[in-house]
Amino acid sequence: MTPTLSSFVFMAFTAAYLTIRGVFIRRARRQQKIDKGGTRDRLLIALVGLGQVVLPLLFVWTPALGLADRAQPFACLPLGIVAMAAGLWLFWRSHVDLGDNWSVTLEIDAKHQLVTRGVYRLVRHPMYTSFFVSGLGQALLLANWIAGPAALAAVAVLVWVRLPNEEAMMVEAFGDEYRDYMRRTGGIVPRLG
Ligand code: SAH
Repeated sequence: MTPTLSSFVFMAFTAAYLTIRGVFIRRARRQQKIDKGGTRDRLLIALVGLGQVVLPLLFVWTPALGLADRAQPFACLPLGIVAMAAGLWLFWRSHVDLGDNWSVTLEIDAKHQLVTRGVYRLVRHPMYTSFFVSGLGQALLLANWIAGPAALAAVAVLVWVRLPNEEAMMVEAFGDEYRDYMRRTGGIVPRLG
């Protein structure tokens, strides 16, 4: 199948996204930070991979999801590009600001530091925010009712299940410092002013 312009643009953004992730996974591996998380965390990550990468690939390269194809109004392309670019920027900034404190699964190690600067100054989970923003871009760019909204649905499940555990873990590790940080910031939506 020949990808449409919208699908091609989506794949280009996904390649950039996976490249950034790859750099930080290699970095985390050097810190021996990978492979400590639990089964539920892994399943959630696999679900997000399905929504962000596998279903889009099936849509773009195979006829498997053809029954769910939809029309593509022209405005979806520029709006989708804006959302993907904003999501990618926030994803990259979150990785840079979190630095060596990032890990694929939920974990805290002896050298862990609470990050409250950069994009973490306004919002506690900017990386998840970036997934929602890119997910919106995906829904706009992929003209299919399954592959389009798949990332938004998967990330909603990730955040719903993982976020309470992540915040409980952070409160356990950082106590009042994290509770104060929670009072000052939004979870997924930035708290301004
Ligand atoms: N929820 C965050 C980070 C996701 S990565 C976001 O959306 O931006 C998950 C790892 O980040 C967890 O293992 C946790 O230890 C770490 N983490 C989350 N918030 C952090 C913070 N403010 N400072 C340092 N580490 C953090």
